Amino acid sequence: MHIKAAVVREAGGPFLIEDLELEAPGAGEVLVKIVACGICHTDVIIRDQFYPTPLPVVLGHEGAGVVEAVGPGVKTVKTGDHVLMSFSACGTCPSCLDGAVAYCHHHMQMNFSGMRYSGTAWDVPAPLLKRLPSGKEERINGAFFNQSALATHAIATEANVVVVDKDVDLKTLAPLGCGFQTGAGAILNTLKPDVGSSLVITGAGNVGLAAVMAAVVARCYPIVVIDQVPQRLALAKTLGATHVFDSSQVDALASVLELCPDGVNYALDTTGHPQVLRSAFQMLQARGICGLIGGSKLGTEASLDMTHLLFGRTVRGILQGDSKPKKFIPQLVQLYRDGLFPIDRLIRHYRLEEIETAIADMKSGAVIKPVLLMD
Ligand SMILES: [Zn+2]
Ligand SMILES: [Zn+2]
Repeated sequence: MHIKAAVVREAGGPFLIEDLELEAPGAGEVLVKIVACGICHTDVIIRDQFYPTPLPVVLGHEGAGVVEAVGPGVKTVKTGDHVLMSFSACGTCPSCLDGAVAYCHHHMQMNFSGMRYSGTAWDVPAPLLKRLPSGKEERINGAFFNQSALATHAIATEANVVVVDKDVDLKTLAPLGCGFQTGAGAILNTLKPDVGSSLVITGAGNVGLAAVMAAVVARCYPIVVIDQVPQRLALAKTLGATHVFDSSQVDALASVLELCPDGVNYALDTTGHPQVLRSAFQMLQARGICGLIGGSKLGTEASLDMTHLLFGRTVRGILQGDSKPKKFIPQLVQLYRDGLFPIDRLIRHYRLEEIETAIADMKSGAVIKPVLLMD
């Protein structure tokens, strides 16, 4: 079928809106008419080729829409279902067998290879083609998080779609599939803080602010947010941060230690910057845990004070907030309905054709979470 999609053809290059052909869903796959797709930092770093996902490619991994068709063997999803899409896992590696699907041993291939999994290898091309004026066909890479949802339609799998009630606002809740579940899950699934635990969050983007909202649900205190964009810090306060520090103006580590002289129970780094991670780690009290959520370029190294580490402190990488999407996303929908996860305050809608503006606004801090509408 004919679709419109945002195609990246060169590293750092623009998202080009192009007409493509999408194949019908194969075994275990579902065809989704995309209603909305959030833009996540990961789309931007893949555009910039931090990871070697092959180009040209259709990105987008926070898609939401309506199922239009299902392939052979699909049992739990049917035509007409409303779905949010999330990441993919193989289902058979040791992590998957333990239910730790975010840590699938094949996470990179499943989500970033640009190809589909045949059950033994990532050797099935993405279902995307471009018909060239010459009559030839150009293969376009996709299957990004098994969705490539920056498009009017996408092929996902039964395994990575989450069926939601039909009254769920897909235009608002599309980004639950990555950024928001990542931040909220780091608190609610990974750290599971006791009531009254002290917490620092570095970076007040969508992941950091999701962590703030979840920390309010978990009754953390204080909830400290560090960033360098005043509007983002102001927003963090309205969402429940008890203290905010602008690290372009003050020494963040000294400010946190003034507030909590023994250090904090938990720190979450959403920036992926080595110096910020080091600083967040230094803020921990003995036995404290520093979660690392932010992605950085492959090979990036950080240095840590080993004696500080020796005192029972932990640095813990966290992918996708340790989420099992089919379980956790409905929980986040419930929190949203209860007014405890007001992500509508972080979202601005754009048309697919406005994708470059949306990304520029996310980068400048003018908007926390751009969501593209496909109609
Ligand atoms: Zn696996
Ligand atoms: Zn993401």
